[in-house]
Amino acid sequence: MKYISTLGKTDPVNIETAILNGYAPDGGLYVPEYIPKVSPEQLDSWRPLSFTDLAFEIISLYLDRSIVPAVDLREIIDKSYGTFESPAITPVLPCKSIKNVYILELFRGPTLSFKDIAMGFLLNLMEYFLTRRNERRNILVATTGDTGPACGYAAIGKKTINAWLLYPQGLISPEQVGQMTQLDETNIRSVAVKECPDGGDDLDRVIAQLMGDADTKKKYSISSVNSINWGRVMAQIVHHFYGYFRVTENSGEKAVIAVPGGAFGNLCSGAIAMEMGLPLEKLICANNSNATLFRIFTDGVMSRKALINTISSAMDIVIPYNFWRYLFIRTGMDHIKFRTWFDQFNKTGEVAFDAESLAQIRRGIIAESVDDQRTKALIRNLFEQEQYLLDPHGAVALESALTLKEELPEDIPLLCLATAHPAKFPKVMSEIFKDLRYQDHVRHASIDDANKYLKHYYECDLNQLYTALMHALERNIAPK
Ligand SMILES: *Cc1c(COP(=O)(O)O)cnc(C)c1O
Repeated sequence: MKYISTLGKTDPVNIETAILNGYAPDGGLYVPEYIPKVSPEQLDSWRPLSFTDLAFEIISLYLDRSIVPAVDLREIIDKSYGTFESPAITPVLPCKSIKNVYILELFRGPTLSFKDIAMGFLLNLMEYFLTRRNERRNILVATTGDTGPACGYAAIGKKTINAWLLYPQGLISPEQVGQMTQLDETNIRSVAVKECPDGGDDLDRVIAQLMGDADTKKKYSISSVNSINWGRVMAQIVHHFYGYFRVTENSGEKAVIAVPGGAFGNLCSGAIAMEMGLPLEKLICANNSNATLFRIFTDGVMSRKALINTISSAMDIVIPYNFWRYLFIRTGMDHIKFRTWFDQFNKTGEVAFDAESLAQIRRGIIAESVDDQRTKALIRNLFEQEQYLLDPHGAVALESALTLKEELPEDIPLLCLATAHPAKFPKVMSEIFKDLRYQDHVRHASIDDANKYLKHYYECDLNQLYTALMHALERNIAPK
């Protein structure tokens, strides 16, 4: 399997290069040159597999044996998911109070969010490649709260990786900050960036600037593990299959998956799963008030609007960069058409899709946007009905799904992705609940632990970040 850049101005590469590069050298995102198809018979044979066995089968379709032999891939997968607190890795629970609705818990990894699903795997795979090449990388991460902790945890003890965790100060929860700053490792640095009007998007822009210069990227061996990295999107395909198998009896049945969308990484993975042959009736693209995706699917226009800070802060994103990857795949992998849209958006902050392309974009996906008030009401109602505490991101997904239910076939199983543990957002929970019954559900030992340790972090103003990072990278220049 080869990987091509969405912009098409660079040669195809193998998976090792795609993963280690992050962005393609032309500034595009890597996509597989084709999407492998899965037959109904193959689906049936996958149904009984454990999460890790399923991961092995799916990832094998994208990763040549000549680059990662089967035994090595097994070992990387087992190591990556061995850190999860649930033996199922991503357990599925039926809602007790809503018929045919299920929750797929994606937050049973070491830092209690969906980001753990792919991050451990990606960093272990990177370390495998880098050790073999005797190289190192500086990984720059921009976080809206969950990517940073997941990357920090996954980088612990890795000799080939220096991790720089950049977060917008004041815009993520103190619990999320604590998960990063508690780390006392020589290869991990947390940086609080002040004055970020566009939150994580501001940080993404600085990283893209650093990585966009080929000389800088090479000199400092920079890479990224944000979901621009194909490895993240690839590993996230697995839970869509796994969840589907848990809520259907045979592969003639369809299901609906509701996904809380931020940078569109999880949705891109789901759409690829569909393209591979996963029998989904629809994917639901659930937005908070930052509704760039909702506007694309409803109005057919991708436009940049000012950031709104919401209680589902991990989804506070202005430009859902993985939508570009999805757009390229869905509209026939046409570099010329793609570049026209991409250039226009970068120039004007807006692009309107033609009717034919829009039909492709909308195929299999419906969208909804949910504000904080509705999110809070859903969390309260669900807890009152069945004592299950959903985090604000999962709540956006469930509220979207319940709102769109009338557009869906009756009695179809509806799987809602819960992407974070509520213990990461105690302040939001205390705003929702006046009584104390919920409090046992909003705690987790690993969060309590984070407060017991010294906090290690650097500070920087956004307008100094580029220069400051260049300076720091120069002093820590990665050995050849
Ligand atoms: C990252 C994140 C999302 C959004 O996922 P994308 O892949 O960026 O769309 C949703 N919920 C939580 C809790 C997250 O951390």
